[in-house]
Amino acid sequence: MKSYKNKINRIRTFALALIFIGIVIMYVGIYFRNQPIVMVIFMLLGVVAIIGSTGVYAWIGLLSMKTVPVQCPNCERHTKMLGRVDICMHCNEPLTMDPSLEGKEFNEEYNKKKPQL
Ligand SMILES: [Zn+2]
Repeated sequence: MKSYKNKINRIRTFALALIFIGIVIMYVGIYFRNQPIVMVIFMLLGVVAIIGSTGVYAWIGLLSMKTVPVQCPNCERHTKMLGRVDICMHCNEPLTMDPSLEGKEFNEEYNKKKPQL
């Protein structure tokens, strides 16, 4: 069985990873002090990664406006969910907005398909 994570948390982890990657790339660039062109390329790549992560954070901000705050039935804490199905941020309990999916096994595919009318 695959394990799922809350979408907002997952994107946040990705943005954070991107910052670290950017720092690592710039750090590698320092080793090429003797070749300024190579060093500049590494520095630019690092800056691009960090700018990318800023973009991802801005994206999270936009997505947050679309999230629905719900109270988790399992841990009774407030969490944010995105799409028709998502996972609780605190206890990884599957949550759904769609009553017809209630009780069904969690499947991320429900987010990709359009609701059947
Ligand atoms: Zn919960």
